[in-house]
Amino acid sequence: MTDAPLKLFNSLTRSLEVFEPVHPGEARVYSCGPTVYNYPHIGNMRAYVFADVLGRTLEWKGLKLTHVINITDVGHLTDDADAGEDKMEKMAAAQKQSIWEIAEHYKQAFWADVRALNIREPAQWTVATDYVPQMIEFAKGIADKHCYELKSGLYFDVSSVADYGRLARAQTEEGEGRIEAVEGKRNAADFAIWRKTPPGETRQMEWDSPWGKGAPGWHLECSVMSGAVLGFPFDIHTGGIDHREIHHPNEIAQNQAHCCTNGLDDPKNSGAKIWMHNNFLVERSGKMSKSSGEFLRLQLLIDKGYHPLAYRLMCLSAHYRSELEFSWEALGAALTRLKRMVMAVEPLKAVEAQPVAEHPKFAAALAKFDEAISDDLATPVALTALDEALAVKKVDAGIKRGVIEEIDAVLGLNLFGLTREALRIRPKAATISEDEITAALDRRKQARAAKDFATSDAIRGELAAQGVEVMDGDPLGWEWELS
Ligand code: AMP
Ligand code: ZN
Repeated sequence: MTDAPLKLFNSLTRSLEVFEPVHPGEARVYSCGPTVYNYPHIGNMRAYVFADVLGRTLEWKGLKLTHVINITDVGHLTDDADAGEDKMEKMAAAQKQSIWEIAEHYKQAFWADVRALNIREPAQWTVATDYVPQMIEFAKGIADKHCYELKSGLYFDVSSVADYGRLARAQTEEGEGRIEAVEGKRNAADFAIWRKTPPGETRQMEWDSPWGKGAPGWHLECSVMSGAVLGFPFDIHTGGIDHREIHHPNEIAQNQAHCCTNGLDDPKNSGAKIWMHNNFLVERSGKMSKSSGEFLRLQLLIDKGYHPLAYRLMCLSAHYRSELEFSWEALGAALTRLKRMVMAVEPLKAVEAQPVAEHPKFAAALAKFDEAISDDLATPVALTALDEALAVKKVDAGIKRGVIEEIDAVLGLNLFGLTREALRIRPKAATISEDEITAALDRRKQARAAKDFATSDAIRGELAAQGVEVMDGDPLGWEWELS
């Protein structure tokens, strides 16, 4: 049932390619991780839900997965194209804490979101500051042929490698205009791989190097950590679509220099065979931001009463290469859909899963699921295959459970771990406890049984005043909801 060849969209060739592992039987994947200077917003988390589904799919296809996600705790400037301040230094100054404290706090916050979204831990989290000696070695290795030194740092000469910028499909003049001019740069797109600490200044994070005290550039970090752990070339490199423009072209240029590979007609020369990018989660007002409007952290969704896996399902209901617009209505719809699924598996919880064998009642749904997920992770279609499998009736419960577990191993919705109660909307701000609600509903049931509709209505009114909506006759059987 995993027969369909896995096809993935390679941003480097802008085409679907059948996945063929570099090392037979294995899949080595690197995902650009967060810069831990602030909480992640739910758009950032979309990138890791996508990488998680990719990893689960590769394993489901029988490959031994090695997934690495990095944690950037130094070197990422406020502008991706090498200008501005170090995001970490800036936040540390604003919060009057050390960078190490800032990094630890936001790394933990990120990991909490990872767990809440049922994103599996990668084989390794690589932390940038643990790899600085390797970064210096990498830079030394390419400095003579590909770099030049300026007052502010060691710069990479993008004209020294073939096909620079192919991933971004050639820099437009307008694009280059966005890159801040640094006096002495040979090409507008040249970027710092080592940033010297300006004379007379001390940075909280700085290291000795052949180019003076300073810190590594952000692009250098990912080249070094991916190569160090996975070895060049590895299979798949992922990130959000913004990384297709600057960060990943720069990583690729460094990898070409380091590996002494030539042009990019052979994608492997870039350091990875396939480069994959998830599209953005957007707000109606435009790009998601941590600074303006409502800061959409996962915790905000939870505080408003939504189970975080409703957000995971919302992500899966769009293809990862499509833009997805966030709205509370869409999140609510995802929650309702998740409730239906959880209720459909409820009767299967008591039975043991049977291994998935050929079963005529599930053949169509399983084939559809395999084809969808193998078609560049078409999760919206895969979800309809799940719905079809859930709708199969008059079949051995153990077999059904086996099928649903198999599908959920890829989608990661934790259907057998969730309960209807856990999916109730329960805002943090609610003043009434669940025990009080249950007690009131019991009294109301008794009143109704005694045909005392006045009391029944009065109780309903009291509950409504406290934000509890009683849902009589709801086909889903959700007897109440907090709003
Ligand atoms: P950062 O911490 O800014 O490096 O971002 C972490 C990841 O989130 C990167 O892969 C970004 O490309 C990705 N990302 C940033 N904004 C969004 C968004 N609105 N939707 C989806 N992915 C995003
Ligand atoms: Zn990166």
